Amino acid sequence: MIPAAFDYEVAESAEHAIALLGEKEDAKLLAGGHSLLPAMRIRLARPSVLVDIARVSELSYIREDGDAIAIGALTRHQDVAHNVLLHAQCPLVSYAAGLIGDPQVRHRGTIGGSLAHGDPASDLPAVILALDAELVVRGAGGDRTVPASEFFTGVFQTAVGPAEILTEIRVPKLGSAGWSYVKLSRRAQDWATVAVAAVVERNGSISKAAIGLTNMGGTPLRARAAEEAIAGGASIEDAVKLIPQGTSPPSDQAASSDFRLHLSTVLGRRALEEAASR
Ligand code: FAD
Repeated sequence: MIPAAFDYEVAESAEHAIALLGEKEDAKLLAGGHSLLPAMRIRLARPSVLVDIARVSELSYIREDGDAIAIGALTRHQDVAHNVLLHAQCPLVSYAAGLIGDPQVRHRGTIGGSLAHGDPASDLPAVILALDAELVVRGAGGDRTVPASEFFTGVFQTAVGPAEILTEIRVPKLGSAGWSYVKLSRRAQDWATVAVAAVVERNGSISKAAIGLTNMGGTPLRARAAEEAIAGGASIEDAVKLIPQGTSPPSDQAASSDFRLHLSTVLGRRALEEAASR
């Protein structure tokens, strides 16, 4: 289908984009366009104006900042996947970025677009949840920092306001923590049927785990009950039985809700075992 008519503006900076967003109701930022344009074509999205931020190069970077690695929101998946600093300090995020779609998608899509879109089937949301990352959101009043746990507010809804822009994602250096992201999809390059991200601390066995879930509900989720069981000394085998608690996975062409519930325990076990051994 053809999108409904819209105006088009090119932003020269983050501040310019914020000003343009404030000028019209229903304005939307355009980054890589790999989620927004398909939504417009089927008229799920009908913005009155697109504010193109693709040329705002100040928002494309990956750099060390104290205990964190700061990633500009316009950094493309391909650059996240192949960045040496991330490989050394937070390989989970680069590994997951390398599993997104196909090379064309990874060369256009941006980390900020993926997170701001708030799709529970996308890979990076569950990863930043498991990492307890922070997101920097800029509006006319300046910057505010939102913890990943408060960023995804509903189905395709995030903490980014209508006249705000996500500018930076801050992921922690992992140090000695183990990590894994296990994604199952029906065909190579497909979206995840289900995926599980794990970050673990070890003291002989796993002493603490953060578990992020992809495509297990209306938002990306943390498997809190399983995490608490591990903190209380439960084995991986016992803890993963609790992963489905609090989830409401969809039924669709790829899998039924029941199958996703089962998959989450199988992939959760693989993710925790791999994280423990890494
Ligand atoms: P856009 O489409 O430009 O924008 C998406 C939304 O975010 C829009 O509402 C836009 O206004 C908003 N937005 C964009 N940037 C910002 C910002 N800085 N601040 C605030 N709001 C912003 N993703 C996966 O995770 N896994 C996959 O396996 C996968 N497979 C794909 C396969 C195909 C064929 C396609 C087309 C896409 C696939 N994707 C997948 C989605 C891909 O990762 C997109 O790149 C990503 O979801 C959106 O990023 P974008 O830069 O294209 O954002």
